[in-house]
Amino acid sequence: MSVARILADKGAAVETVSPNRTVDEAIHMLAEKRIGALIVSDSGGRVIGILSERDVMRALACDGASAVDQPLSRYMTAKVVTCTRRASIEDVMETMTEGRFRHLPVVEDGRLVGVVSIGDVVKHRIAAVEAEHKAMRDYITMA
Ligand code: AMP
Repeated sequence: MSVARILADKGAAVETVSPNRTVDEAIHMLAEKRIGALIVSDSGGRVIGILSERDVMRALACDGASAVDQPLSRYMTAKVVTCTRRASIEDVMETMTEGRFRHLPVVEDGRLVGVVSIGDVVKHRIAAVEAEHKAMRDYITMA
């Protein structure tokens, strides 16, 4: 299964935020959208960072309550690992495991076309394993 298939199921909508927004605004966006990370993009729509709930934790641990008034660019990860729609679910699992993160923006020709989270990966992997088991059961009972 490919990233293209995951995006076809979940849609291409991505929550983006500009780097000069505050950590407080980011926290509210994360809570309202019930997501774990925001993709930080510039005015041209280029991906320039990612801010996950883990970065917010780190900001609070380092700078205390004053962190919420700071621009989020101060705490985002600027070196973002991305994938394309052609990547397989196995590629995504390997990238997430090696990088120790749970979000992977999908970028093609410099354009953000989606995001895959570890939740999407687990959901599709379980569906694929269940389909394999069913096919195997059907085959055995037919024989
Ligand atoms: P996460 O597990 O996705 O909540 O993120 C854990 C840490 O990895 C945070 O510091 C994120 O900013 C960073 N991170 C998340 N996704 C990516 C990514 N695709 N590329 C680089 N860093 C990331």
